[in-house]
Amino acid sequence: MDLNDPVTKLPLVGHHYSSLLEKANISTVYDLLFYIPYRYLDFSKETEIAKAKIGDIVTICGKVVEIKNTYTKRGLTIQTAKVIDKTGAINIIWFNQPYLVNNIKKNEIYSFAGKITLFKNKKTIVSPEYEKKEKSGIHTGRLVPLYSSIKGITSKWLRSRINQALEIYKDKIEEKLPTSTLRKLGYPKINDAFWYIHHPQNEEEIKKGRERLAFEEFLKLQITSLIKKINWQKNNTAPILKNNQETIKSFLKLIPFELTRSQERSVKEIATDLNNKIPMNRLLEGDVGSGKTIVAAFACFLAVKNKKKSVLMAPTEILAKQHYNTFKKIFEKEKIGIGLATASEKKNLENSDIIIGTHALIYKSVNFDKIGLIVIDEQHKFGVKQRASLVEKVKKGEYQPHILTMTATPIPRTIALTAYGNLDLSLLEEMPKGKRNVVTWIVPEEKRIPAYLWIKEKIEKEREQVFVVCPLIEESEKESMKQIKAAESEYIKLKEIFKNQKIGLLHGKLKTKEKDEIIQKYKNGEISILVSTPVVEVGIDVPNANIMIIEAADRFGLAQLHQLRGRVGRGEKKGYCLLFSESQSKKAYKRLEALRKESSGFKLAEIDLSLRGPGEVWGTKQHGFPELKVAKWSDTEIIKKARETAEEILSNKNKYKKIISEWESKIV
Ligand code: ADP
Ligand code: MG
Repeated sequence: MDLNDPVTKLPLVGHHYSSLLEKANISTVYDLLFYIPYRYLDFSKETEIAKAKIGDIVTICGKVVEIKNTYTKRGLTIQTAKVIDKTGAINIIWFNQPYLVNNIKKNEIYSFAGKITLFKNKKTIVSPEYEKKEKSGIHTGRLVPLYSSIKGITSKWLRSRINQALEIYKDKIEEKLPTSTLRKLGYPKINDAFWYIHHPQNEEEIKKGRERLAFEEFLKLQITSLIKKINWQKNNTAPILKNNQETIKSFLKLIPFELTRSQERSVKEIATDLNNKIPMNRLLEGDVGSGKTIVAAFACFLAVKNKKKSVLMAPTEILAKQHYNTFKKIFEKEKIGIGLATASEKKNLENSDIIIGTHALIYKSVNFDKIGLIVIDEQHKFGVKQRASLVEKVKKGEYQPHILTMTATPIPRTIALTAYGNLDLSLLEEMPKGKRNVVTWIVPEEKRIPAYLWIKEKIEKEREQVFVVCPLIEESEKESMKQIKAAESEYIKLKEIFKNQKIGLLHGKLKTKEKDEIIQKYKNGEISILVSTPVVEVGIDVPNANIMIIEAADRFGLAQLHQLRGRVGRGEKKGYCLLFSESQSKKAYKRLEALRKESSGFKLAEIDLSLRGPGEVWGTKQHGFPELKVAKWSDTEIIKKARETAEEILSNKNKYKKIISEWESKIV
């Protein structure tokens, strides 16, 4: 008997209930104990009927002297009962639960818990929790946990079963961690944690219990992914891409600037990884404009120097094209062949050393031989399947290419290391040209016209260029028709307002050729104002664009706004970001105000994290974060502790043999 037993081992849990539980991902006793309350009702105050005052939330105990169904004119039923103790009487009412009349036995003693109200001028409890006196202490007379109901299962049923599971399995809940470790962490034993969370005496216990269970969850995540990583490294072999100081130097000669410190660090980390037969699996994280492309180019360069090809996959055609042009420029002197493969274009695929494309390159007749490195830009824009299928194309038996993924999402290191425990991490923490020179304004609606006039002058006198980002209408991966319509009408409106200016419209439904033309014109300065949908081109690089307008800014996440803002102020001149918002919400204003004041993507992510959950900040699902039961991605302290403990466990394999082997057995 242990916690891995199926729930059907519990009394009163048969096939019917187990299949309902299964749908909520509960199949073992352990899973059931990990189903934690979302709230508690404080029924701990037990009182005599005469002493219960209107408005009190209490538990009373008494004999049921009367219970009956009454039928209303509308065909509803009301259940009424009268309960007495030695001090007085109280009425109880339920609605539409006719079976209660059979469940609750007359002349027997029950506990009832709820709020004392006045109904028809009599002391009454409406829809109380109740249980037999001799079995009480589960649904009444304590801090009573409320569980989210699962389809077909009530909170009360869950409470009873969980309580029973705790009773039956209390000696079988094995503590995996040594007492000394627990003491150092300040956490209770796992056994106590389950009691605290399902059967707390006070708020403090709830907090302690939750912390320990959250820790347990993170620890398991960390250890299993670290074990997975070790196994993956053991079972796959990548080509060694030899390099040394000289190789790095010869690359630096190809680029027109010096690397930032964090670019340099990342380049070295990557160089070390590639110089090894253990396949690299590294995530490069850095704000928009932090210079990830060059780092990727460096990795590809090392592959070429070792007579291996590389593939770079970008989420959109425009980005793929931009990378293609950047790479061509950098590698011109070295005569390195660059190929392009998108849905609408195929260039130089035969003789290329570096193939750049969108996910279309998976399906194009690209030759995947000799590929030693895969780079994936804006990795979260791809589905897990798309990423995997590219790797599958290249992988042969034990042969595994090195993988570099890149993202502009500022996920703090500790969180990233837990969510992507199988990856190594390089962060680009500073911007190439020092602090970004962007002024952010929150523009009230009544200042819209003056703002347009100011922009008009900027365009006419200083030849400035403007980005206009349309409101995010619905959160979705794909651009919807509605979204495009909104961009079109904004475009028409602005054409009216800026009569003498050339305005462009960019959205995902345009043909590649049309998109290219518009972007080219924008880059040349032929277009002064570019209106686009929000999903278009996070990474687009136009150094002369210095003004950004974001409509309905409150609908975007802070990270998103920050990324959009990152497109301006890239050149020598000061950049401006104008946020329009009709929202009256204080919270929305607070977020925009944070954006105005703060210029670091990582800091903004922290602020956003405290104002909203990580799910909303980054779209944890979209970013492939594992699902959590008890823990939250904002539990940074717990995440840190779990990470440290996991590392200690894996570096003391003998001491923790049992823990490791148990978790190992759970990895599929
Ligand atoms: P992102 O991280 O958003 O992909 P990019 O790689 O597109 O950023 O870089 C943004 C711009 O900064 C590009 O024009 C690039 O040439 C430039 N850049 C990158 N690294 C440096 C550097 N170390 N010094 C100066 N400019 C740089
Ligand atoms: Mg980029």
